[in-house]
Amino acid sequence: MSLSPKSTALVLFALALGGFVWFQFRVDAQAPAPPFDLLITNARIVDGSGNPWFRSDVAIKDGRIVRIGRLGPETATRTIDARGQIVAPGFIDVHTHVESIYNLPTADNFVRMGVTTLVTGNCGSSATDVAEFLGRIKDKPLAVNLATLIAHGSVRRRAMGLGDRAPTPEELEQMESLVEQGMKDGAVGLSTGLIYVPGTYAKTDEIVSLARVAAKYGGVYATHMRNEGEKVADAIRESIQIGEQAGLPVEISHFKISNKKFWGQAPMTIGLVREARARGLAVTVDQYAYTASSTSLESRLPAWLRAGGLDEAKKRLADKATREKVIEETKDALKRSGFKDYSFAVVASYSPDKSFNGKSIAEITKQVKNKKDVRSQIEQMLEMYEAGGAGMIYHSMGEDDVKRIMQEPFTMIASDAGVRQVDDSVPHPRGYGNNPRVLGRYVRDLKLISLEDAIRKMTSLPAQTFGLRDRGMIREGFAADIVIFDENTIVDQATFDKPHQFPLGISYVIVNGAPVVENNKITNARPGLALRGQGH
Ligand SMILES: [Zn+2]
Repeated sequence: MSLSPKSTALVLFALALGGFVWFQFRVDAQAPAPPFDLLITNARIVDGSGNPWFRSDVAIKDGRIVRIGRLGPETATRTIDARGQIVAPGFIDVHTHVESIYNLPTADNFVRMGVTTLVTGNCGSSATDVAEFLGRIKDKPLAVNLATLIAHGSVRRRAMGLGDRAPTPEELEQMESLVEQGMKDGAVGLSTGLIYVPGTYAKTDEIVSLARVAAKYGGVYATHMRNEGEKVADAIRESIQIGEQAGLPVEISHFKISNKKFWGQAPMTIGLVREARARGLAVTVDQYAYTASSTSLESRLPAWLRAGGLDEAKKRLADKATREKVIEETKDALKRSGFKDYSFAVVASYSPDKSFNGKSIAEITKQVKNKKDVRSQIEQMLEMYEAGGAGMIYHSMGEDDVKRIMQEPFTMIASDAGVRQVDDSVPHPRGYGNNPRVLGRYVRDLKLISLEDAIRKMTSLPAQTFGLRDRGMIREGFAADIVIFDENTIVDQATFDKPHQFPLGISYVIVNGAPVVENNKITNARPGLALRGQGH
């Protein structure tokens, strides 16, 4: 059979068409995936710089922010419609105590408040093997990014125990080399806790020596100062002096005035920081948004009693005259702090008797001894200390001071919290509500600071201070740590009576491009990275 020219042309046309269709099909099958992994549309971006919000879309690829602009929804594998909510950098909490985070790797209390990066090792207490601590993330992935300081107290304890004395030259050298190793392994700075054992026994020159080592590797000096009450000015001066002599930036932790007699003095303490900055010294502070602090019961007792640890202290307390001396000194300290008894001191956790949790020392003394006097309250505290100690909440600050400190441009927002799980303790609510409390109470309700400034204090300022260079801003090229929230409804729910409550109003939290909170629920994704300092 032969084909007419017309038929031949038709067949050729059909073949060509088939080929074209086949070619098209191949092209479609091999088409590159959409250029972005995730696209956030209809966003009002507060970029972390302090600039006013603007409308844009944000595109994410391989854990990074790659495009900010008007982008079509077809350009990404997945799209989140922010519906006009605020899209901000994930919050960076520079003052945490999360040495146990590998036991609770989803860090629910932090991510639910929008926190995507934690700096731990504060207040003089850290892992001493930084390489091991940060390296564990490989086998035990975390929901959040993790950085750590190397802590003076932990290093001192390892080099010379818990004694109340100066180090020998050899011991100082050993401490210096532990700090050096910590910095080389990626610590972001040195921390001190100068009310705790054994940090409290260190003189200024010892700290300067160690801070010099941290300075060599671009670290910051973060300090829980020697005093936050009647001697707070001296303590601020010492912190600044350490920074000046060692040549590194100073971060004063949980900046506050915790002595009732000194309430209203925030302008004075802020003045000392401003003065240092005016002289060219990099001094910054962090703060949590509450009028109560939280620390150990024993921090209320004389430092000399606690030397060598609890067993040594118990031996001392067995001596009647020594016990009397402790009671007198503690009574005197209470009087100087401006409180008439220990009703401001509330138990957060006391394992020998959990019925104490949530009650004040005054209430417990009434219940146990049927006494109301201060002496009986101190005796009750000593008995609890001897039984292993307690975690405490101290209602010791005035809100005017909290507000004044929050308004300073060099103040950042940090929780001072650990990783929480719901149990029968009654911990400080800051671990569940700190950032939302600032955004709800102090930004929206009291209009104390602007939304943009509050976000700056939670993002770019902490990133700048702790050397986290590609975080804390919504910027192309930066890590995709992002929080999406409604500024009209965001609110902390955790209270001092019922602290185990998550905030409302935060719909998405994204860490390195992966949602860890989605529609207000934990996703169990663990995209966190270990963040290492310049010494690494
Ligand atoms: Zn502290």
